[in-house]
Amino acid sequence: MSLFGSSGIRGRVFEEITLELASDIGKAVGSSYKRVVIGRDTRTSGEMFRSAIVSGILSSGAEAFDAGIVSTPTLAWAGRGFDCGLMITASHNPGGYNGVKFWNSNGLAFLKEQRDRIDDQLTRKEFEPVPWDEIGSLSGHDTAVEEHMEKILSGVGTSDIKVVVDCGGGATFNITPSLLKRMGCDVVVLNGEPDGHFSARDPEPMEENLAELMEAVKSSDADLGIAHDGDGDRMTAVDEKGRYIGGDKLLSILALHEVKDSLVVPVDASMVVNDLLPDAEVYRTRVGDVFVGEELQKRNADFGAEPSGTWIFPRHFLCPDGVYAGALLAEMVSKKKLSEMADEVPEYPQQVEGIMFDTKRREEITKGLDEKMRSIDCVELTTIDGWRLQFEEGWALVRLSGTEPKVRIKVEARKPNTVEDIYRTVHSITEEVLR
Ligand code: MG
Repeated sequence: MSLFGSSGIRGRVFEEITLELASDIGKAVGSSYKRVVIGRDTRTSGEMFRSAIVSGILSSGAEAFDAGIVSTPTLAWAGRGFDCGLMITASHNPGGYNGVKFWNSNGLAFLKEQRDRIDDQLTRKEFEPVPWDEIGSLSGHDTAVEEHMEKILSGVGTSDIKVVVDCGGGATFNITPSLLKRMGCDVVVLNGEPDGHFSARDPEPMEENLAELMEAVKSSDADLGIAHDGDGDRMTAVDEKGRYIGGDKLLSILALHEVKDSLVVPVDASMVVNDLLPDAEVYRTRVGDVFVGEELQKRNADFGAEPSGTWIFPRHFLCPDGVYAGALLAEMVSKKKLSEMADEVPEYPQQVEGIMFDTKRREEITKGLDEKMRSIDCVELTTIDGWRLQFEEGWALVRLSGTEPKVRIKVEARKPNTVEDIYRTVHSITEEVLR
């Protein structure tokens, strides 16, 4: 059983993510990578886990460089000068969680063979410390934020709009507000103090967590609102009318700006993007930014995105970068209102459901669903992550959740009647298998 989820190793502090595990991660990484840069978000457990991971790294004879509290894209960008980068974060999870994201120096998350090697080392626990006179040393790496900011400023233009930035108490507090000011924006900051308890709001930048931002955009008469998750690889937005613009809508807006030939999205992203970019190749991957990033590099595509608010701009670099995305959007909004861009993107009706299942029957249910889904008459069946059935006027995705005992069904079509038709077919077949 792999310790890696779709975005590194993550879990509850002192339960899945223990000090021992953190130190072992340091030992495993230090045995293969000799110069490791390490950063963390604002979580209360961040400093503690940093110390444990650094101990492990040093005991294996490698050198550690501490970038301090930084966003994930800031750390990944810093990683280019090292053998790898470790980011201590649980991303958008609540404050009681933490974890580690692993970055290669090219901005891509660790690949399967790298993850497998770490997994194997963590399972065997056969770590050999080096002799006392070969123990590694820890140095500071204080320039990460400035380097990332300069990289972004070299890739975006200026902007004279008014922006409200909601850092949510997370790691972007030290970059996004000052970056936007340097671009020329008038900036209002919400939750811009590091807060490992995330007491102001849940770190996930979803509509239900952003009431304060929506209100602030309206009351301060701003042109744009931007929200990040705890580690800043995500960004969602609010238009000048105070409307939340996230997920598939923002995906389409950014795709229209970025894509010439091709883009990469996960299997659950809306088909609106296909319709808006009829000449572009749309590659679909498993759900998870790691998979989007890998496919992006393989296909040499122009843009990669997840409706969760994860944006990858390969002309910038390969790590999802919510800070860059926010800066780019600020530049775009200086030329055209976000509400206008949003209203030009159609919204197709969707139906989403989760049906509980008995996890003891997982294998049998998977087999049953596979057989039944293959018998449905459709244009194309994709099985990279669950079963995605493409029809002429819509699609359905049926997946067994990895984190909950639920079969998830998502249906989207151009017309409400078609959604209902597709949903009825897929739902009844799923019920039949679960019975
Ligand atoms: Mg994140």
